[in-house]
Amino acid sequence: MKIAIIDTTKLFGSRSINKDLNGGFGTRDSFSDSIGGKIFERLRARAVYLPYLTSVYVYSILKQKGITVSYYHKNLPKSSYDIFLIVGSIVDYENENLLAGQLMKNYKNSKVGFIGPFPSTMPTLFPNADFIIDGEADAFFLYEFEKINTLDGIIKVENLINMDDLPSPDYSAFPYNSFKYKPILNQSPLLSIQASRGCPYSCGYYCTYPTSQGKQVRSRSPEALVDDIIFLKHNFGMKSLLFRDPIFGINKEFPYLLSEIIQKKDIAFNWGIETRADLLNKKNLTEMYSAGLRSINIGIETNDPDIAKKNKRKLSELNHQNKVINYCNQLGIKVIGFFIIGLEGDSIQSVKNMIEFAINQNIFVARFSVSTPYPGTKFYDQLNKENALLNKDFNNYNQFNYVIKNKNLNKKDVEGLVSYSYRKYYLRWEKIYALLSDQIKSIWN
Ligand code: SF4
Repeated sequence: MKIAIIDTTKLFGSRSINKDLNGGFGTRDSFSDSIGGKIFERLRARAVYLPYLTSVYVYSILKQKGITVSYYHKNLPKSSYDIFLIVGSIVDYENENLLAGQLMKNYKNSKVGFIGPFPSTMPTLFPNADFIIDGEADAFFLYEFEKINTLDGIIKVENLINMDDLPSPDYSAFPYNSFKYKPILNQSPLLSIQASRGCPYSCGYYCTYPTSQGKQVRSRSPEALVDDIIFLKHNFGMKSLLFRDPIFGINKEFPYLLSEIIQKKDIAFNWGIETRADLLNKKNLTEMYSAGLRSINIGIETNDPDIAKKNKRKLSELNHQNKVINYCNQLGIKVIGFFIIGLEGDSIQSVKNMIEFAINQNIFVARFSVSTPYPGTKFYDQLNKENALLNKDFNNYNQFNYVIKNKNLNKKDVEGLVSYSYRKYYLRWEKIYALLSDQIKSIWN
């Protein structure tokens, strides 16, 4: 049997797309239509290129099962396969569908199907395929492989992956020297991995991670992860590793256990995580830093407790968050803050306050995006019920187009504020200097 996995991200010139982000729904950066916005978009597209991690795990599982499996990201297959698997996303679903239709026309004896959380959530948007894997694709190929000969329609995956059952991510068919996450983790090759899936926090009201991974946290053992790390270093020369967990270290013991084994085995590499400030403290930061932690993505979202409450977000205590950021700066861990514009309760003034807050936070970089009601979330259902969606053209659901009817802010206000936030945050001498000197330093390391 021959299977091809295809990711359209680089195939159709959509440079600013990252399908692995946003719970696997994907993001498409589109900061503004101004020249400055376009330059920033290009810079960001050149700086960040991440693998779609599920496709790496699916590839690894299939290879382990002895299947002939290929990965296409730059050009299309030129010969027939038994199965074509296309990575589906909210940010490129039209191109993905066109491709599926083309493959079905060209290879009449093959099966063409989609994988990914967005096709699982909105299968009707993917009509040009024989099948859609509804659920975790890696769980399907690992536990339900016998169904491979009857791929038709929507195939509901019965199982969730037990993280310890996953093989080490095998990047041999992927452009592993091209992946990057600059200026956050500068050393290449940069690869990604998952230590856990699932997030139980109440902000799952609007966030896609619990939609795609569930609320229950499933973790891989620290021992298995360290084996993965050794595998990635040995086979691909990995120097930086990005943990793509929605909330790294939710199991409080985990950061200590992992850091301890990394140090015991004396494995040198830089790594980055995404988590909440209230899961961090001096003790676990010191431990993780000693094991190579160099960057932390923190979803701050808003600085306003009332707005956070309205959006069902549990805010980290401000004083504690400041201490965490200061301690990270002291150690040399970069903190990346994520902020949302246009949340329920936001006004022009509250957003401007938040931008000032971001500037005063002393974080390494900030990302501002607009509140987006993703299908599959309760937020979307609520707005849909209230007839408060400006449109349901999901091409616009990319974190930069505002699609919500909001009594305080209109679409123009919000998109103007996004543009303003980037100008205000990045066009400062001290920020430009910090970013440039970081890049110069990284050349010598
Ligand atoms: S804590 Fe983060 S990953 Fe979890 S639901 Fe909230 S925003 Fe999403």
